[in-house]
Parts: sequence; structure tokens; C-alpha cells
Amino acid sequence: MKNCLNKKCFGKIELLYDYGSIYNFNQLNFDCTTDSYLKPKIYKCKKCTLKFSEIAVEISSSNIENKYKDIIDHIYINEIPYKKKYFNKLFKKISRYLDDKKTVLEIGSYYGVLGNIIKNDVKSYSGLELSLHGSNYAKEKYNLQIFNESVEEHVKKDIKYDIIIMSDVIEHFSDPFKIIKLINEMLNPDGLLIFTTYNIDSFYAKITGKNYHWILPYHLFYFSNKTLKNICLENNIEIFKISNDTRIVSLYYLLNKLEMIFPKFKFFFSFFKKLRNIDINVNLFDLNIYYAKKVVKK
Ligand SMILES: [Zn+2]
Repeated sequence: MKNCLNKKCFGKIELLYDYGSIYNFNQLNFDCTTDSYLKPKIYKCKKCTLKFSEIAVEISSSNIENKYKDIIDHIYINEIPYKKKYFNKLFKKISRYLDDKKTVLEIGSYYGVLGNIIKNDVKSYSGLELSLHGSNYAKEKYNLQIFNESVEEHVKKDIKYDIIIMSDVIEHFSDPFKIIKLINEMLNPDGLLIFTTYNIDSFYAKITGKNYHWILPYHLFYFSNKTLKNICLENNIEIFKISNDTRIVSLYYLLNKLEMIFPKFKFFFSFFKKLRNIDINVNLFDLNIYYAKKVVKK
């Protein structure tokens, strides 16, 4: 019997979902728009309710980092026009916390789409990105300052930030607890952490259960509002606001996903894929924006 991956909890865990997938853990594909659809076993901590995948248990963090370093994601690059629309909306929602006096770090800046939207409205923008291809693209295409290094490496530079942003990144870390701790170290006293992820306790995630579409090999953790609040508080960060996060995806992208979930209906989806330039709003109320600040010690 293994224990909760949050060492501050270390409660007993139980197997929640088992898909019978057999992995060669060294050959997993971690591209964020990967086509592979073998879902990993999901465990749940009986004490703190944290959910995480067998991959978080089986693969070392250095191995996971190496996978991200090598990522070249052409599917994402093709989706950039839609990503821009989504990130523009996200920017509008978080812009009340940004101004020309704020220094911003984005952890997991990937191809730099959000950074390119933020950079002109803040004092400075920097991105942290493990993928060399993503880092170079963001530097060359958008002229962004990108550090091609891990959070652990970056924290050694002892740079403090007013705002740290993570867009759909926290679920990818093998040790998110350590990452939150390091974020606290990198934030100025009145700094803010703003991040997005899915909420595994949302209505949609609950009704779809083991078929929830965000259960994927590269998503190692499945947080809820409750588990996120706990983990942040354990590291002196307090979530003070949670809002819903509407996504925009292309119809083509959505049909591709549906085709993977329902292969029997491929002919049906293929017909609609001809209309590939239509973009649609998707909101299943399972994705949130979390706003957090440092706990002020009295
Ligand atoms: Zn636990």
C-alpha cells in the first residue's frame, strides 16, 4: 500500500479508476496535444482526497523533466490562432491585477502566446519553459525573455516577482507541493499567484467519472478546490478567489478529441471536420482560475 504523494498528508491511498492500461513508462508521449489516449490508473488519498495518477508514482521527476525538454508540438502551433483568442479572454479577466509596475513570471510559458499578450501591459514579463523548441519559438516569434530551465534552477537566481502565472501547468508537475513552496519563495511580500487548472470535484468531472476527458497520461494530479486550498495553505499561500474559465477551441480540435473518445463515430466527426475554420466556445464549468496571495505572518 502506497501513501499520499503530499508528504505533509501521507494518508493511505485507494485505487479510484483502473482502465487496464499497460504502460512502458519510459516511452510515454508528453506532448500537450498528444493523440495517445491510454488513461492511467488514478489513486485517491483517503485522508485529504487528493487524486493523482500512477505515472506520478512510477516515473522519477528528472525523467518527466527530460520528456518536457524534448517536446516539439506542431499541433499546438497550428492551434495558436485559437489559443490567442482564449488567452485574450484570460488576460481580460486577470488584467485588474496587472499594471506597468508589476514584474511577471509565467511558469510553463510553452510557445509564448500568453506572454506576448501580457508583455506590453506590465513592467517586465519573463517565461520559464523546459521545452527548448517552445522557448526558442517564444524568443524568436514574440521577442520574449524566456528562461529554458526548471523552477528549481530558476529559484537559485533569487529573482522576486509581483505576479506568478501558471496556465494549465500545475497538474503536470511530479512534485506540485515543492513547486508551490518555491513559488512562495519567488513572490514579493504582496505578490500574487494566478493559475488555471481543471477541478476534479466539478459537476462535469463527477458525472463523466472515469471517462473525464482531462484524465490523460501527462496530467499527473487531479486537484479540487479543496485540495488546492490545502496544498497552498501548507506553503503559506492563500487562495482568495476562484472563478470559472471559459475555453475557446476550434471545432476541428474538439472533433479530433471526440473521435478519440468515440472511435465508432469517426465517419460522423470526419464529415464535420471539413468545417475546420469554425471556432466555438466550450464551457463545461470544470475549469477554474485560482487567485492566491502570500499569507501575511503576524
Ligand atoms: Zn493525502
